[in-house]
Amino acid sequence: MKAALCLAFNQPLSIETVTLAPPRPGEVEVTLGACAICHSDIHYMDGAWGGRLPAVYGHEAAGWVTALGDGVTAYAKGQRVLVTLIRACGHCACCASGRPTVCEDPHYRDTPVSLPDGTPVTQGMATGAFAEKVVVHTSQLAPLPDDMPLDVASLLSCGVITGTGAVFNSAKMPAGVTALVIGAGGVGLNAVQGARIAGARRVIAMDVAPEKLAAAAEFGATDGVLATAGDARDQVRALTGGRGADYVYVTVGAVRAYEQALGFCAPGGSVVMAGMTANDEVMHLNPGNTAYLEQSLVGSRMGSTVLARDIPRLIEHYRQGRLKLDELISNRYPLERINEAIEDARKGVSRRNVILFDAFGKGAP
Ligand SMILES: [Zn+2]
Ligand SMILES: [Zn+2]
Repeated sequence: MKAALCLAFNQPLSIETVTLAPPRPGEVEVTLGACAICHSDIHYMDGAWGGRLPAVYGHEAAGWVTALGDGVTAYAKGQRVLVTLIRACGHCACCASGRPTVCEDPHYRDTPVSLPDGTPVTQGMATGAFAEKVVVHTSQLAPLPDDMPLDVASLLSCGVITGTGAVFNSAKMPAGVTALVIGAGGVGLNAVQGARIAGARRVIAMDVAPEKLAAAAEFGATDGVLATAGDARDQVRALTGGRGADYVYVTVGAVRAYEQALGFCAPGGSVVMAGMTANDEVMHLNPGNTAYLEQSLVGSRMGSTVLARDIPRLIEHYRQGRLKLDELISNRYPLERINEAIEDARKGVSRRNVILFDAFGKGAP
């Protein structure tokens, strides 16, 4: 099968023919229809998070189950599924308490992908979906209805759950509060629409790009703060009666954004940490002030998502017009043009670029 491989950091991906091992017990093979490009893929391509090369990235995918490992009964061949990087054992203390995104024993396997000469290819984020097929654990899947287009559905695998889940699950944000979302990119727009759906009385988006604030307004932001126009803290205070926001969502992987976030936060408020910074970065904060104001820092990985619970909810929000998905897609590209799609995503103006595989046009394999 064809895959777009990272052979060296900071270089374009290379389309190569690779071999995929058959699914083992508890795993399935999924033939992909679509895979969206996420900034995490780009961070990996740039070497920010290390890892061995060659590697195949891509982790925001949807397709059809085409082979089942021994003992898999929850899925059938031909079934449409979304594929995520959330891999969970189902029975550790975290899984048992409904927190599979921090599973303590996810059983990461040796990679099923290799070059024709046998050289192993790292399966990026336990998914490796910049390829025509993946072999993943069943915990990484969620069923999709037949009428949901796979390009639209693929967005639910990462950006949408990370943004909306930060609001619904990590923060458990109640209705009526004020929310500030720092960064109006792929995750930020979804935190904005999550905050709208959750009933925030004010949803303030903050970004350095005016066109991204315009996009945030489309997704439900009541106000926009251009971080480069005057003191951002003064602007947030002016919009929140001088208090700051009850919930501040950091959706960008920038230390500076984290350091500013507590200054935007109301007394008793929470800073929800959804943006992933590079491995070696640290932030400065004044712990005494945070304690004095009873502010909370809430870590949020993949929106604290429980696939079986959250994906059906999100699909219903989409069907009823509350959750915008079609509007998140900027452009569609074939796998051969993936580097163009990535370069466009790097510019930061596009929402999500989606790779459509040959199977997308042909239908169920
Ligand atoms: Zn992602
Ligand atoms: Zn677990």
